[in-house]
Amino acid sequence: MNIHEYQAKELLSKYGVAVPMGKVASHEDEAEYIAKDLNVEKFVVKAQIHAGGRGKGGGVKVANSLEEVKRLASEILGMILVTHQTGPEGKLVTKVLVEEASNIATELYLGMVIDRATENIVIMASQEGGMEIEEVARTNPEKILKEHVDPTVGLLPYQCRKIAYFLGLKGKTVNKAVKLILGLYKAFTDNDCSLAEINPLIITNEGEVYALDAKMNFDDNALFRHPDVEKMHDPNEEDPTELEAKKWGISYVKLDGSIGCLVNGAGLAMSTMDIIKHHGAEPANFLDVGGGATAEQVLQALKMILSDPNVKAIFVNIFGGIMKCDTIAEGIITAAKEVGIEVPLIVRLEGTNVELGRKLLSESGLNIITGKDMGEAAAKAVEAAK
Ligand code: GDP
Ligand code: MN
Repeated sequence: MNIHEYQAKELLSKYGVAVPMGKVASHEDEAEYIAKDLNVEKFVVKAQIHAGGRGKGGGVKVANSLEEVKRLASEILGMILVTHQTGPEGKLVTKVLVEEASNIATELYLGMVIDRATENIVIMASQEGGMEIEEVARTNPEKILKEHVDPTVGLLPYQCRKIAYFLGLKGKTVNKAVKLILGLYKAFTDNDCSLAEINPLIITNEGEVYALDAKMNFDDNALFRHPDVEKMHDPNEEDPTELEAKKWGISYVKLDGSIGCLVNGAGLAMSTMDIIKHHGAEPANFLDVGGGATAEQVLQALKMILSDPNVKAIFVNIFGGIMKCDTIAEGIITAAKEVGIEVPLIVRLEGTNVELGRKLLSESGLNIITGKDMGEAAAKAVEAAK
C-alpha cells in the first residue's frame, strides 16, 4: 500500500525526521488559511497524488503571497496531472500540501528498500538528488552508496555517519542527517515498510536537513497490525476495477492484452498467462477467483473481464478441487444471461463434478469452445481472439 506525501511526512515527523512545516488542503480557501497560519514569506503548493515527477508535470509551485497560494491551489486542485509515472491518462488532484518553502542549497537522495537477495534492508544514498535513482543506477552506479543493515542488529550510528560523509555533509549537518536516517529506519521497520524514499533530501541555506519529499510503501500482508497505516489508504488512487474485485474477494490485475482470463488459484492463473504468451498472444488480465469461488463471484469476475474493451476472447481455465465445476458452469450461464457475452468464450474444466459442469454448459445453448486440455484450449483462445 502507498500513502500520500503529506501522510508520509506526518508519520515520519513522529520519528524525528525533519520536514518543512505544512498541512494538507482540499479547497483553495483552506490552502490560503493554512498558508496564513504558517506565518512565513514563501510557500510551496504541492499536488498530492501517488506518483512521482509532479514537479516536472506542473504539480509543484512556489508562491510568494497568500493570494498566490490561493490562486495556485485553485489551479492545481481539480487538474488532471500527467507525469511519467501516471500514464498518459493522468491523475485527478483532490488535495494539495501547503508548505513553508525551503531555500535549497543541495538536493540529495536517500532511500530504503528490502533486499530479498541478502535478506537485509539496504539504504541507498546519492548526491544526485531530485533525479530518478533508477536513472542514476544505470548511468552512474558509482554515485550511489548502498549500505546493508542486518535487521537483527539494527542500523548503527557509524553507518549513518558513513552515509552522511558520502553525501558530502560536514559539521552540524552530519548530526542532523544521522538523526534523520535513524528516524527513517525506525519508521521503516516499525511499520513494515517495503520502501521509503526521500527524494530530494535537502540541505537548506540555513544548514537544516529536511525531507522535502517522501514516498512510503507498506507490506500489504502486515497491514493487519498497523491499523493507523491502513486508515491512510486512499481508494481514489486505485484502479476502480481492482477495487471492485477486492470487494468480491477476487484478485484482479489489469494488463494490456486481448485475452480475458478467469482462473482459480494464483499458480494456475500465472501458468494460464504463460501459456497464452506461449501461443503468441497477451493476457488482458490476471484474475484469480480463489479456491472456493461461488457462482456469484464467477458472475462478478466475468463482468469485470467484459468491462475491458480490449478483451477479444475469454479463456476460463478451472481446476475443480474445492471448487466444483458445476458452480463455474452456473456462473458462466448466469453471466451470459445477465450481461451477454459477445466475444468467443473458451472453457477448460477439469476436476470435481467436471461431467456435470460440461453437461450444464452444453445444454445451456451457449456458444462455447472447449479444449481437451489446457494447451489446446489456450491455443483455441489465441486463435479466437484474432
Ligand atoms: P516530485 O516531482 O513528485 O518528486 O516532487 P518533489 O516534492 O520532489 O518536488 C519536485 C521539485 O520541486 C524538487 O526537487 C525541488 O526542486 C522543487 N521544490 C519542492 N519544494 C521546494 C521548496 O520548498 N523550495 C524550492 N526552492 N524548491 C522546491
Ligand atoms: Mn520527489
